[in-house]
Amino acid sequence: MSTAAHTPHVPERSCVACRRKRPQGELLRLVRGEQGWQLQTGHRTGRGRYVCADTPACWSEKRLRRSFGPQAGTVSALLNVQTPQPAIQDPAMR
Ligand SMILES: [Zn+2]
Repeated sequence: MSTAAHTPHVPERSCVACRRKRPQGELLRLVRGEQGWQLQTGHRTGRGRYVCADTPACWSEKRLRRSFGPQAGTVSALLNVQTPQPAIQDPAMR
């Protein structure tokens, strides 16, 4: 008898910092836009990377560096602020 190992219909993704596999809902999604990496909150586009939503340790620049390289600092800051904003196509810098 063969028992088919059915996986539940929950998409799993790996955190780029700790490599844990988790349901997508427990991860924050980062996408690379024209302005660089940003948190994705709405519809999905292209490629993204995932980081634990509830684990500040995974937001440290050090841990992100192996995945994001020189961008790790920016991504780390993004995650620590955690203020999802709609993508505004405004080139004005603050
Ligand atoms: Zn993690």
